[in-house]
Amino acid sequence: MLPLVDGFGRTHRDLRISVTDRCNLRCTYCMPEAGMDWTPRSELLTYEEIERVARLCVERLGVDSIRLTGGEPTVRADLDELVGRLAPLGIDLSLTTNGTRLVDLAGPLARSGLRRINVSLDSLRPDRFLALTRRDQLGDVVAGIRAAVAAGLAPVKVNCVVVRGVNDDEVVDLAAFGRELGVTVRFIEFMPLDASGDWDRGAVVPLAEIVAAVDEVFPVEPVARTSEPADRFRYLDGAGEFGVIPTVSNAFCDRCDRIRLTADGELRNCLFALGGTDLRTLLRAGVDDDELESAIRACVRDKWAGHGISNVDFVRPPRSMSQIGG
Ligand code: SAM
Ligand code: SF4
Repeated sequence: MLPLVDGFGRTHRDLRISVTDRCNLRCTYCMPEAGMDWTPRSELLTYEEIERVARLCVERLGVDSIRLTGGEPTVRADLDELVGRLAPLGIDLSLTTNGTRLVDLAGPLARSGLRRINVSLDSLRPDRFLALTRRDQLGDVVAGIRAAVAAGLAPVKVNCVVVRGVNDDEVVDLAAFGRELGVTVRFIEFMPLDASGDWDRGAVVPLAEIVAAVDEVFPVEPVARTSEPADRFRYLDGAGEFGVIPTVSNAFCDRCDRIRLTADGELRNCLFALGGTDLRTLLRAGVDDDELESAIRACVRDKWAGHGISNVDFVRPPRSMSQIGG
């Protein structure tokens, strides 16, 4: 099997699949209050089409990790059916969710073969959670995180986007929450992928500042770097670890091994790519696996060196995070 290599020699093994662009929350940095124009059902890849692309990526291209995301993946009907289709591929199968539906879904998803899960949670304060997500569902999310732990999904990670002046005063509280529940919190730098276009560099709370805040209360030491994007830190008292994903302050593009399939079937070689390869049209035109493989390889071959957020000529992608699949 020939690995999926781009023009800079980076091998791609991690496929993110967005199963819908719909969402039941409206996080301010991700979606407008009214939601977006949802992709019509007929334009979403079916579970059969998703399975075909996933199988080809695993069996012919060496992909060994698949993460289901969205929009909010749990709003798509019968998500456990898709998990059941992908689990036999023997890959590291995970899910990114806002957690609101996990009380009901964690058990069925785990039984269908889901291995691990990332839950997004940006505030532990009910009023702030409501302001940030425009929905009063903090209790559901916290209960969902507990349900994921109880269902045996491991590890459970809690992802928190830190925005200056919005929730940067909660970094230590969120770290304490992770320690208490035995889950790994990962702080994510705010990226220029918000639907409103309000992002500016001043809103980014950089890695060094996040680590210093936690270390002051819960002393930590760095963990040796692996291929994953997060910089990891271990609590010296043995209560686990936390991570920071420094997309802006310390881009990890040189180690990037990810490709993304949007809910409407566009393959994108970078989160910040300005376009992609329309696999849905190919799938529905009845192409064979060789043609599909060539299209995927060509898309990855064209990948650029890095996102260049810091360059003066940086251009924001036309799609927001919820449409690309975070
Ligand atoms: N709905 C699911 C959820 O919230 O986890 C999956 C999709 S969501 C787009 C995936 C992740 O992207 C979430 O952790 C969310 O916080 C993050 N995200 C959304 N907009 C972002 C932005 N502008 N900068 C950084 N992260 C962002
Ligand atoms: Fe929905 Fe996730 Fe975007 Fe929030 S971050 S609006 S939960 S897709």
